[in-house]
Amino acid sequence: MSYIDEIIQQVIEKNPDEPEFHQAVREVLDSIRVIVDANEAQFRRDALLERLVNPERQIKFRVPWIDDQGNAHVNTGYRVQFNSAIGPYKGGLRLHPSVNIGIIKFLGFEQIFKNSLTGLPIGGGKGGSDFDPKGKSDREIMNFCQSFMSELCKYIGADTDVPAGDIGTGAREIGYMFGQYKKLRGLFEGVLTGKGLSYGGSLARTEATGYGLLYITDALLRDHNIDIKGKTVAVSGAGNVAIYAIEKAQQLGAKVVTCSDSTGWIYDAEGIDVALLKEIKEVRRERLTAYKNAKLTSEYHEGRGVWQIKCDIALPCATQNELTLEDAKLLKENGCIAVCEGANMPTTEDATKFLQENGILFIPGKASNAGGVATSALEMSQNSERLSWSFDEVDSKLRGIMENVYANISAAAKKYGMEGNYVAGANIAGFEKVLDAMNAQGIV
Ligand code: NDP
Repeated sequence: MSYIDEIIQQVIEKNPDEPEFHQAVREVLDSIRVIVDANEAQFRRDALLERLVNPERQIKFRVPWIDDQGNAHVNTGYRVQFNSAIGPYKGGLRLHPSVNIGIIKFLGFEQIFKNSLTGLPIGGGKGGSDFDPKGKSDREIMNFCQSFMSELCKYIGADTDVPAGDIGTGAREIGYMFGQYKKLRGLFEGVLTGKGLSYGGSLARTEATGYGLLYITDALLRDHNIDIKGKTVAVSGAGNVAIYAIEKAQQLGAKVVTCSDSTGWIYDAEGIDVALLKEIKEVRRERLTAYKNAKLTSEYHEGRGVWQIKCDIALPCATQNELTLEDAKLLKENGCIAVCEGANMPTTEDATKFLQENGILFIPGKASNAGGVATSALEMSQNSERLSWSFDEVDSKLRGIMENVYANISAAAKKYGMEGNYVAGANIAGFEKVLDAMNAQGIV
């Protein structure tokens, strides 16, 4: 059996009940086969792949908090510090009832290669909790965030591990966590990114993942002589990534006709009203039925269904495995030309394969949503030099980074004879830098 197949089998045996982690490892290792096969003896001797797929450290802790009625609850907190070969661990904190160690490991593993692709000095990590922020009062959110940080603060720091937002963790949660870190550690430092502008946050961080997704989509289309202007776009999700993807797509002249949340989805043939969507999701924190009620010409449907709408470009921006093989077939039938992932691993393995085999341009999340973490790293730089850059300065750096990511993944795919396979290109380009750093630093 090849070294890679042995490792995939080991990962499955040693980490049972973690299907998302298996999926992420399989996808990455499969596409770096050319490099591993060419160096198998050395990699085996140095246990290179074992070190790559086993986190440097994983922390699991109890998070007790008290609700508004005075009742205590206990959630589980996680931080997986996966790989620090090229810099301090960096990756978001997910607050969602579906969170478990397997989900955090899949996200942390992906984060290693994503962070490497940005060209910035950041290692891979991820964390979170199975706490559900939905329906909680502000005070309950604060209680939870403070308790979560009371434990997490022992393991993070501006030069060791710098968490950020993710599903369920936005500016409000980061604020409460930052306050608690400062109180307990007595340090005002860049230990979290996604902070508010009044205490060290970066302009354009809120917009970065969605905007970055469109910058790379635009670069991809231009490379194939396609103009994004006038194209119809389907987006899933209605959170941070989705909202700013919709905004930038519209600025670039495309028409976005859908968005969704975990209960239903909107089809708006006139184009999503992004100001209204922001008001509903960012300010009022309501469901998408409020969009339909405010814009009577739009349609609201329960459940999932965004991918049945005819579009040129599909941007899945909600969560993992939300675009299935059936969805991919519908997209193909409807003439879709490109799928670029805003979320982490939103396309299932068989759907990804189908899209690639059927000539649909496909960029995986670890490349196309890297704008978020890249701008987080720019926030770290600003914190270190105690300066704030203008919106345009950050935004133009973000655009440059995303265009570079596209150039690098495209070149890596070509170099190994897989032109146009951006999954392989992203994994190879991300892996090469991490490999070089791991080799240089010895067996640690
Ligand atoms: P948000 O919490 O802001 O929004 C998530 C959106 O997806 C919401 O509309 C939510 O609906 C929906 N959603 C979440 N879980 C499910 C589910 N199980 N089924 C259907 N819909 C769901 O998160 P973000 O926008 O920040 O993150 C979205 C994705 O992008 C995630 O995969 C995240 O890891 C990834 N990402 C985010 C980055 C960032 O900077 N924010 C950076 C890179 C990647 P509802 O409100 O009803 O739950």
